[in-house]
Amino acid sequence: MKNYIASNKQRYLDELFDFLKIPSVSADSKHKNDMLSAAEYIKGKLLDAGLDHAEICPTDGHPIVYAEKIIDPALPTILTYGHYDVQPADPVELWNTPPFEPTIKVTPIHPDGAIFARGSCDDKGQIYMHVKAIEAMNLHEGLPCNVKIMFEGEEEVGSENLGTFVKNNKEKLKADIILISDTSIIANDIPSVETGLRGLAYMEVEVTAANRDLHSGVYGGAVANPINVLAQMIASMHDENGKITVEGFYDKVIELSAAEREALESAPFELEAYKKDLEINEVTGEKGYSTRERASIRPTLDVNGIWGGYTGEGSKTVLPSKAFAKISMRLVPDQDWEEISDLFTKHFKKIAPATVKVQVKKHHGGQPYVTPTDSIGYKAAYLALEEGFGKTPVPTRGGGSIPIVALFEKELGLKSILFGFGLDSDALHSPNEHYGVFNFMKGIETIPLFYKYYSQLVNEQKS
Ligand SMILES: [Zn+2]
Repeated sequence: MKNYIASNKQRYLDELFDFLKIPSVSADSKHKNDMLSAAEYIKGKLLDAGLDHAEICPTDGHPIVYAEKIIDPALPTILTYGHYDVQPADPVELWNTPPFEPTIKVTPIHPDGAIFARGSCDDKGQIYMHVKAIEAMNLHEGLPCNVKIMFEGEEEVGSENLGTFVKNNKEKLKADIILISDTSIIANDIPSVETGLRGLAYMEVEVTAANRDLHSGVYGGAVANPINVLAQMIASMHDENGKITVEGFYDKVIELSAAEREALESAPFELEAYKKDLEINEVTGEKGYSTRERASIRPTLDVNGIWGGYTGEGSKTVLPSKAFAKISMRLVPDQDWEEISDLFTKHFKKIAPATVKVQVKKHHGGQPYVTPTDSIGYKAAYLALEEGFGKTPVPTRGGGSIPIVALFEKELGLKSILFGFGLDSDALHSPNEHYGVFNFMKGIETIPLFYKYYSQLVNEQKS
């Protein structure tokens, strides 16, 4: 199969180029027909790849392309998710070649060439790897398990209709694992799997002292200044070890084992380069954890904005009536964002001195997510990358959030394997987005290995 894939490289690229030429910009209503063309194109290619059934499912927004091949209901089912919509190409004048005219150029990181086009990496190039991997499996050994495909057209605009589709189609989407190629590896010689993502709880607080702004000469010193009070309250939310002081905040935090921490530390990281890049003299954070751990496996509390009083030109001697702040917390498994929001509210009210009144507002949030490294899905991804790249893969933990992954877990009860092949330097969402030809081909080679190992491991577990 490897030889077959290598000998079809030009055809794969030609087909991908046709797909990339369709400007499937979901945010811009003038591309509505292009969205349909892109959905039709990928549906046709899924049927060509040997899937039994493919359909375009309408939603209130852009449609979802669904396809499947059930070879034996007794076998496991892999559901692949991805998106065929792309970010707008603006500012177009910063592109060196037109965004919807794919061009291959050599770069220092991509000596085999990279495909420059909007969507090349995010995510059309990556979903096309799956289509070609399925085609190759069908033509050779055959599929080792059942396949379902769900490609949406609204990922870049917040996946607005995906939740409804998933809720209404639980039977159709029934599977054992979700496979997603929409993330990065560390480098072309350091394959990696993202095993977790942080959640988020976002709050806004208001501190009120007197019923109106006061003259700081007349009242200053006798009546509370809400900005001073708010600053003290915020400062008290971390102790001298960088721990968050909200009661109960850490109760549900799962501590990683020494082995898990060691595996995460095996990814390359240069503290000096990190500091130099940010032009900071020193890093900070929770005692007992490394910089990478602080930014991935540990929860945080940060002020995102703070305002109040006079901020205009010159000076005004005001004793303000109110002060405000937006405060967000990044969460880790098994913290629950609504529960943390409540704990924060309770804590904030409790620490407020009698001199002020406070109000706390809950904004949005999201749950943290983790794929255990002892799960079959993770092991299959590890073995596939190890064989595909001939290198030991590294687990990583993302500091941010991918809301769809939490949605799939909640609605379908399924874990997702983040099996992306891009690089962080591929200029996603930016002008001159590109995707390495090496990465594209490596993905097509490696995806069938995931199918192979996943099926094997599930069968072993059964017997
Ligand atoms: Zn994407």
